[in-house]
Amino acid sequence: IPTRTNMTSLSNGHPSSFFNVPIIKFTKLFINGQFLDSLSGKEFETIDPRTGDVIARISEGAKEDIDVAVKAARVAFDYGPWPRMPGAERARIMMKWAELIDENTKEIAALDAIDGGKLYERCKTLDIPGAANTIRYYAGAADKIHGEVLKPSRDLHAYTLMEPIGVVGHIIPWNFPSTMFVAKVGPSLAAGCTMVLKPAEQTPLSALFYAHLAKLAGIPDGVLNVVPGFGPTAGAAISSHMDIDKVSFTGSTEVGREIMRAAASSNLKPVSLELGGKSPFIIFDDADIDKAAELALMGILFNKGEICVAGSRVFVQEGIYDEFEKKLVEKAQAWVVGDPFDPKSQQGPQVDKKQFEKILSYIEHGKREGATLLTGGKRVGNKGYYIEPTIFSNVKEDMLIAQHEIFGPVMALMKFKTIEDAIKSANNTRYGLAAGIVTQNLDIANTVSRSIRAGIVWINCYFAFGNDIPYGGYKMSGFGRDFGLEALHKYLQVKSVVTPIYNSPW
Ligand code: ADP
Repeated sequence: IPTRTNMTSLSNGHPSSFFNVPIIKFTKLFINGQFLDSLSGKEFETIDPRTGDVIARISEGAKEDIDVAVKAARVAFDYGPWPRMPGAERARIMMKWAELIDENTKEIAALDAIDGGKLYERCKTLDIPGAANTIRYYAGAADKIHGEVLKPSRDLHAYTLMEPIGVVGHIIPWNFPSTMFVAKVGPSLAAGCTMVLKPAEQTPLSALFYAHLAKLAGIPDGVLNVVPGFGPTAGAAISSHMDIDKVSFTGSTEVGREIMRAAASSNLKPVSLELGGKSPFIIFDDADIDKAAELALMGILFNKGEICVAGSRVFVQEGIYDEFEKKLVEKAQAWVVGDPFDPKSQQGPQVDKKQFEKILSYIEHGKREGATLLTGGKRVGNKGYYIEPTIFSNVKEDMLIAQHEIFGPVMALMKFKTIEDAIKSANNTRYGLAAGIVTQNLDIANTVSRSIRAGIVWINCYFAFGNDIPYGGYKMSGFGRDFGLEALHKYLQVKSVVTPIYNSPW
């Protein structure tokens, strides 16, 4: 990785400090195959959450830049080669792109690590290779898109065409900058769409790098445009645009509502929303307590709790509760919070000051509500946005910490008696993104997985993702699915073509 070594030293008491700050090469809007300044000339700062220091100044896209990007995507869709070329040719270019991503894994991993406070090693081994594989998965689907032949009656012949939906607007969050980028761009490219993507203002760096590689791979100009900027300006310009045919969004439930409203009051573009969660993780008496505690802890601390499927409500059956609680606390206290470039770290800093303060204020709220703080609860060090793994017990279901998505390393631990109680409590949320179950009993596993109103249920595992596993919400966690062929279909629409047949004997 090209590095700028020895930035300011981290004096927050971490055992070791790593300063692999990558050189930032791409900071401008990527429109029609070129890196451009925003029309206003404005820039915003992207911040290193380890220190609060500025990493780079990024061109700030706003409504007029989105207009230019949409125009480029429109021309590329209406007249360009991308939607018209054989699927196999799109696949070839996407495969090339995936190769280039692989060749640049370390550099992209460093960008996500410094921009989002994400563990460098994890990005290097998981997020970035995973991103390349997601592009490959959808490349593999690009030449297998077809409609059906229909026979409505003796006198009619009909068939369906699966057509790309058009110009897509993607709005993505900051917690998985690479995974989210490819989850949106992969299937829409395979479908033959063109697009404008707005990365989150906290983490614009890797998206711009991917855009650069897309151009090198041969994705035609105008097909993929990346416009960094803020939600209420650039984001809102996408959701309310009259010439965008679909919006795919991942982020908070509140913003999801805004996006749907803007889509409805502009051109009625369809939207898909992947929103917040407050996922239950249910551990039954027959579980291996040690493994279950490990899984539950990972379920809340993975990516510092900044993951919409975090298992933030942990329900433990009464027979093993006390022992489980003891193990869980021991493990939480051994968890290593530190510099995300340090291979020993298990948890880096929260993404920014706002998120850091929000999490700490939920922790204070939990204490005031009367929950018991078993461990954690404070910041780590005195610099950057690090927070201790935090576990509350004696949590009542109606407490804010059991209902609101905190998006941080804060677990609400609760006890239950029967399977019916567990199901009722697990479903006692406005969200429905994911759930986890730990049991050896097949009947319990099957009954609970059918009874939970959530888009994905993990049995004896958590965070098991795959390119072919659709992922998305029930209830106020949104609708539409990322990943799997389900996601491809979000970016296609069906056209029926009907012709009469005269005097057919069949
Ligand atoms: P979080 O709460 O996780 O930061 P948000 O839902 O606020 O998530 O942000 C997710 C994405 O939505 C970001 O790219 C952000 O800029 C964008 N966004 C925020 N507000 C709006 C809005 N009013 N319209 C469109 N996009 C928005």
